[in-house]
Amino acid sequence: MNLSPSAHAQPIIDAVRKMVADVIAPMDAEFLAEVDVGDRWQFTPRQTEILEGLKTQAKAAGLFNLWNTMDGGAGLSTVDYAWAAEEMGKSHLAAEVFNCNAPDTGNMEVFARYGSDSMKSQWLAPLMAGEIRSAYLMTEPDVASSDATNIAMTCVRYGDDYVLNGEKWWSTGAGDPRCAVYIVMVRTGGDDMPKHQRHSMIVVPSAAQGITKLRAMEVYGHDDAPHGHMHLRFENVRVPAENMLLGEGRGFEIAQGRLGPGRIHHCMRAIGQAELALEWMCKRGLARQAFGKDLTQLGGNFDIIADARMEIEQARLLCLKAAWMMDQGDARAAAPWISQIKVVAPLMALKVTDAAVQMHGAEGISQDTPLARQWTHLRTLRLADGPDAVHRRQVARAELHKYQTEKR
Ligand SMILES: Cc1cc2nc3c(=O)[nH]c(=O)nc-3n(C[C@H](O)[C@H](O)[C@H](O)COP(=O)(O)OP(=O)(O)OC[C@H]3O[C@@H](n4cnc5c(N)ncnc54)[C@H](O)[C@@H]3O)c2cc1C
Repeated sequence: MNLSPSAHAQPIIDAVRKMVADVIAPMDAEFLAEVDVGDRWQFTPRQTEILEGLKTQAKAAGLFNLWNTMDGGAGLSTVDYAWAAEEMGKSHLAAEVFNCNAPDTGNMEVFARYGSDSMKSQWLAPLMAGEIRSAYLMTEPDVASSDATNIAMTCVRYGDDYVLNGEKWWSTGAGDPRCAVYIVMVRTGGDDMPKHQRHSMIVVPSAAQGITKLRAMEVYGHDDAPHGHMHLRFENVRVPAENMLLGEGRGFEIAQGRLGPGRIHHCMRAIGQAELALEWMCKRGLARQAFGKDLTQLGGNFDIIADARMEIEQARLLCLKAAWMMDQGDARAAAPWISQIKVVAPLMALKVTDAAVQMHGAEGISQDTPLARQWTHLRTLRLADGPDAVHRRQVARAELHKYQTEKR
């Protein structure tokens, strides 16, 4: 098992690292401050200039769509991509600059693997070009959505169309004025169908008649404008029957068949965020003194720093192992490793970031460092990427499965 970057990937990873550190991260603060200028749900001219300028540079350097590990893609394996994504985690803007941001990468993979030719030209091509954005709509306010078999939005066939009714919330990216298309998880089958064949994924243009944006959900008081996590109502939203992906009842097949790095890119980036937090923690601890000593020399701070280093290394290795399992191409075998890292990486990064916040005193929770924003983001991951408990359930089931035959 080789967890190092390939020779082809190394210069790409180096270029990503350099561009994040030298060019992208220095623009984060200005970009974020612009959100409060004018309409929060539109990009200001300066924001567009910053983002599009950086995207143009990334394209010119051949660093666009690195997530595409499929044939004809950037030529990176999932392991290679993990190293690049770690670097992207160190800046707010970086993932989008390289066209590797959520939820677009997952949606692009779905279009690439399961979309019709017309879906590929209408949606995949402009997504790959970074011209439009997309959202993935699964979660609903009225059902426990961590169990996707509960999803209830109706989708009924009438002649050549499907008609959708229901509500979705936490639709990340649906507030973005560039968001043109949704991939929507819906219920198409009755109780007579097997549990995992009752649901489907269907493509809905965001401009379709009958969709109302009810509100933006807030994350610890932040609306994350202009990207947003929207609460949407669908009332008799009509789309052509050919918008159904793969066929009725195959929603879970699509969700489970995906093996692109989008499955664990949040984890890969969380490792980078933890590295950034440890760097800030060490620099702050050495630069500031209390009670006659550097902060690093006080209380348990040595141990905190040591634990952070050890836990980052452990999580990185697990993340790379999950990536390597994905590269073997067997979705079923890779699944427990994906679940493990989805628990481990956000928890670890959250702990390290929290320690870095503490070392900064009150400044740590303020707007003057990236730590507070990072903490909030990492805390949401423990839900947004599926609740920890659901991933633990998968890990335990895989473990027990090994012995169940023996017991029988
Ligand atoms: C910032 C953010 C962005 C998001 N973006 C999107 C998006 O783009 N698209 C989308 O569709 N959704 C999105 N979500 C929603 C997210 O996927 C769901 O919140 C998540 O799947 C959990 O569903 P739920 O909120 O309905 O919680 P519930 O299903 O009600 O679960 C609540 C709690 O029940 C417990 N629980 C559940 N199952 C088990 C179990 N097996 N064992 C033990 N305890 C259990 C857990 O503690 C869990 O946290 C986002 C969420 C956030 C916070």
